[in-house]
Parts: sequence; structure tokens; C-alpha cells
Amino acid sequence: MRITLSDILSGRVRIVYRRPRRASRKMKDTPEVERLRSEAKAYLPGRLRSLAALHGFTVNQVRIKHNVSNWGSCSTKGNINLNLNLMRLPAELQDYVMLHELCHLRYMNHGPEFHALLEALCPNHKALRKELKEYKLI
Ligand SMILES: [Zn+2]
Repeated sequence: MRITLSDILSGRVRIVYRRPRRASRKMKDTPEVERLRSEAKAYLPGRLRSLAALHGFTVNQVRIKHNVSNWGSCSTKGNINLNLNLMRLPAELQDYVMLHELCHLRYMNHGPEFHALLEALCPNHKALRKELKEYKLI
């Protein structure tokens, strides 16, 4: 088909710019991240499910993520994402993050009921929260 300027001006033909696709959309893991990811996959989902069973929570899917914005997250569908950086933390802090996310299965906010539940499951959560701030996500 031959396209003329009038085709374009009349709107009969539309020019769409498509961003060229990069060879790989995702950045390749550094060796350290690669190690953390495989450790995280081997350990975190099982640990999260044990904690869930212990405290009577039902978790849907557990995924291991790599981002610099959160240690974990929880969706309304009952899916929990855990950051592979958790593998750099002491066990107590790992559990604290996981308990925090489990509490979100019941309360999708940080309101008083959420805190009361977290307090019941993890009495030293305030000190742990402070300790967690010493660690940076990589
Ligand atoms: Zn939260």
C-alpha cells in the first residue's frame, strides 16, 4: 500500500511509534543477587507457610521479588511477595517482616487492629522495626 500525506492528514492512516524492544527487559542479576534469590526461593516460602499455619492464616501464592521499595507486600487476593534481601537479615527480622505481611491478610492497613494483631504475634515488633531500618535494600 502506498501512503500519501493526505492519508495521514485525514486520519485514514495513523503513524504509531513503537519503542524498540530491548534484548532483555530485566536486568541480569549480579552474582550476589543471584545467590540471594536462590536462597530466598529455597527458604522463605516454606518459612512463611509455617508461620501462617502456626497462627491460622491462609496464604495464596508466595513470590520472591527483588526491588528497593519494600521488604514484603500483601495483596487482597492473599498473595504475599517477599524481597530476596530478607536473606541478608537475622532470622528474627525475617520472621518479623513475614508476620507483618501475614497480619495484612486480615487488615489491609496499618490501623490499630492491625497493630494489636502484630503485637500479639510478635511482642517485640517495635524494637525489630527499628532494627530493620539499619538494613538497606540492594
Ligand atoms: Zn504493612
